Amino acid sequence: MKYVSTRGQAPVLSFEEAMLTGLARDGGLYLPETIPAMAPAEIVALAGLSYEEAAFRVMRPYIGDAFTDAEFEAIIARAYAGFAHAARAPLVQLASGHHLLELFHGPTLAFKDFAMQLIGQLFEASLKRSGKRVCIVGATSGDTGSAAIEAFRGLDSVDVFILYPNGRVSEVQRRQMSTPSEGNVHALAIDGHFDDCQARVKDMFNDFAFRDAVGLAGVNSINWARVLAQVVYYFTSAVSLGAPHRKVSFTVPTGNFGDIFAGYIAGRMGLPIDRLVVATNQNDILHRCLTQGDYTPDGVIPSISPSMDIQVSSNFERALFEAYGRDGNAVSQLMQELNSGGFSVSQGALQALRETFDSGRCDEDQTRATIRRTFETTGELLCPHSAIGIHVAEENLTPDVPMITLATAHPAKFPAAVKDASGQHPPLPPHMADLYERSERITEAPNDLGAIQDIIRKRTGH
Ligand SMILES: *Cc1c(COP(=O)(O)O)cnc(C)c1O
Repeated sequence: MKYVSTRGQAPVLSFEEAMLTGLARDGGLYLPETIPAMAPAEIVALAGLSYEEAAFRVMRPYIGDAFTDAEFEAIIARAYAGFAHAARAPLVQLASGHHLLELFHGPTLAFKDFAMQLIGQLFEASLKRSGKRVCIVGATSGDTGSAAIEAFRGLDSVDVFILYPNGRVSEVQRRQMSTPSEGNVHALAIDGHFDDCQARVKDMFNDFAFRDAVGLAGVNSINWARVLAQVVYYFTSAVSLGAPHRKVSFTVPTGNFGDIFAGYIAGRMGLPIDRLVVATNQNDILHRCLTQGDYTPDGVIPSISPSMDIQVSSNFERALFEAYGRDGNAVSQLMQELNSGGFSVSQGALQALRETFDSGRCDEDQTRATIRRTFETTGELLCPHSAIGIHVAEENLTPDVPMITLATAHPAKFPAAVKDASGQHPPLPPHMADLYERSERITEAPNDLGAIQDIIRKRTGH
């Protein structure tokens, strides 16, 4: 299995190389050269398997010869051992034809654990073999960073630096990043928004001298291995509702487009998905783009769903690449236009996007009302991100096709917003009940590339 860049100019890589690299050297994102199909009988055969067994079968074709079957099985087993629910991704029914896929039973209480725990084990296995050391740098609006620090803390061959917008993540998110005491993980509070953090990370990857000197590696949602890990739960949940004999739809609370793009891949592999619905908060650039074709970022408005406060949605580039018939030059052109303000999607590409994706937006009042109403009618306490999914899903229900909405975080990760909306205080699960007592370790930094690079060089001895 070979991997190609969405901008068409970077070297073709193996799975292991693409995983360790993250962002391609031409600024693009890696995708498999061809997307392997699963025959209906192979999808049927997933029914009744453990999550780990299903994960092995869905992901195996993408790995190539990077790991033996036994190695890959052991990697998957270690990745999901720390989850607090035996089913890993349990499906809960909310109403007739509407189901909630609970993706928040991992160690940091958000769906990002599914990918990050796996990638931590993949990196460790790969680096141990080669004797190399890497420096992981990532940007987070809260959940990626905590998931990355949790997945890599204490590993021998990896340093981790996470840039987060100072004062713009929830206290639980911040504490999950700042309380691990292992010396190889570092939380950097940047004076800026999430998009600034993401831009500085991209700058570091585009500074090839720095990139090579510190051995930069990326685990942001652009990393293909993360998208791949997320493909699995589309299969397990759909199969439990009768796929492939029955179609299902998904609604996905969306920011960087990684999670929903995994759904797109599941569909391309043969899972019969009817609709994939993008749910955004008031930062609705994706909804506007999918309805009107115009992609022009206009500044982030902070919301009670901070993990979706995004105007530059990095994985959308992968969807554009597919919608433009895998034309890397066309994608490069769009990304250049984006650098000088924005771009318009061509009619043909917009039509292609709309064949797969629907979209909707949910404002702050609607988010709070959905948290309250869902608790009253079902007893399920939603985090604000999941509530956005539920609101948009309810606008897109159809009588014949069951809808699965992805619950992307545990309500206890956003206690203030949940309490405000529902009157209910969501307690932390037992394994992190003492989070507020642990001591914190944070480095503050300006939104300045040179200053951030200095911190990283000093801490890694380069
Ligand atoms: C990251 C995140 C999202 C958005 O996921 P993308 O893959 O970036 O679209 C939604 N909800 C929560 C809780 C998240 O942490």
